Amino acid sequence: MTKRIAVIPGDGIGPEVVSQGVKVLKKLEEISDLDFEFKEFPLGAEHYLKTGELVTDEVKEELANFDAIYLGAVGDPRVEPGVLEHGILLDLRFSFDQYINLRPIRLYDSRFTPLKDKSPADIDMMIVRENTEGLYSGVGGFLKKDTEDEVATQEMVNTYKGVERVTRYAYEYAKNQSQEQKLTLCDKSNVLTYAHDLWQRVFVELGKEYKSVDQDHMLVDAMTMKLVRNPEDFDVVVTCNMFGDIITDLGAEIQGGMGLAVSGNINPEGVSMFEPVHGSAPDIAGENKANPLAAVLAASMMVEILGYSKEAAKVEKAVKLSLQNDQTTPDMGGSLTTDQVGDHLCSLLE
Ligand code: ATP
Ligand code: MG
Repeated sequence: MTKRIAVIPGDGIGPEVVSQGVKVLKKLEEISDLDFEFKEFPLGAEHYLKTGELVTDEVKEELANFDAIYLGAVGDPRVEPGVLEHGILLDLRFSFDQYINLRPIRLYDSRFTPLKDKSPADIDMMIVRENTEGLYSGVGGFLKKDTEDEVATQEMVNTYKGVERVTRYAYEYAKNQSQEQKLTLCDKSNVLTYAHDLWQRVFVELGKEYKSVDQDHMLVDAMTMKLVRNPEDFDVVVTCNMFGDIITDLGAEIQGGMGLAVSGNINPEGVSMFEPVHGSAPDIAGENKANPLAAVLAASMMVEILGYSKEAAKVEKAVKLSLQNDQTTPDMGGSLTTDQVGDHLCSLLE
């Protein structure tokens, strides 16, 4: 069946890296039964500066008819920081209720981790971050602003429904894996005695339905230490919005940096959006030297979530080979251009 992909190349290096991902997906079509239909949406800085529009309701209605959104990056020095990120990325995330942020932490070659003696077998986990509430709900305010008596509060909003749906997704994800099946809840329940008490109760309650999944608990402070010392202890991790934000960046570094970090904003019942974690990198835009591997891995995750894990694994394997053979851009130690990396990946898929 044809899968309809909405492509938002975005700003800076976005278009350069996304076109490599599309190239790889087209190659995948040639060698498998997969069939994609791509449509580009010119959202981003250029469009905003010309029209004043970020994402209109009409565009959202159209996007709702796609199977997935594939996004490069938004952000431009000519636009005030945050405008494009909030007006495009966050707006799409909330409009499509993408309540899960999936962040794989996988090391493809031992040379790329700053951790001593860790191999790809040790660093291979999936972090499932709650993506819509928690401390990032935007609830709070100021009392006596700009006085010496000022009190600024930021509330951590945790709803049963919100915690339940992300925890269930994480259990399902763990259960559907072929090898190890372990889920770790990462929280701060010893201090956040209301908010994370709810997380604990939901984790235990749902755990009864997932007896085949090993269930573990880790306080977030201990988690940061363990991620560095014993990353092999983790398989699937479920956590709240803020802790997910922090530990996924730690995770990105131990897997080889932003050039390889991928993010899936998932609504299992709706339209999900896949993107490299890095930004628009205006300093190197247009030079054909941006590393396209994170964007290609985002495409691979999109294929996996659309239900084609075998094909996704092929793309991931090609990325792994290109890293092992130094067929990469300068930031990863290679000497290829962005385009050449894409072409190399396609040749590996053949
Ligand atoms: P934004 O505001 O869009 O998030 P930023 O300046 O915060 O951008 P990034 O764009 O994520 O941060 O990247 C920071 C720097 O890392 C870039 O300026 C660039 O030099 C480098 N960089 C980021 N992504 C890549 C990439 N894919 N390939 C090569 N270098 C990159
Ligand atoms: Mg950034």
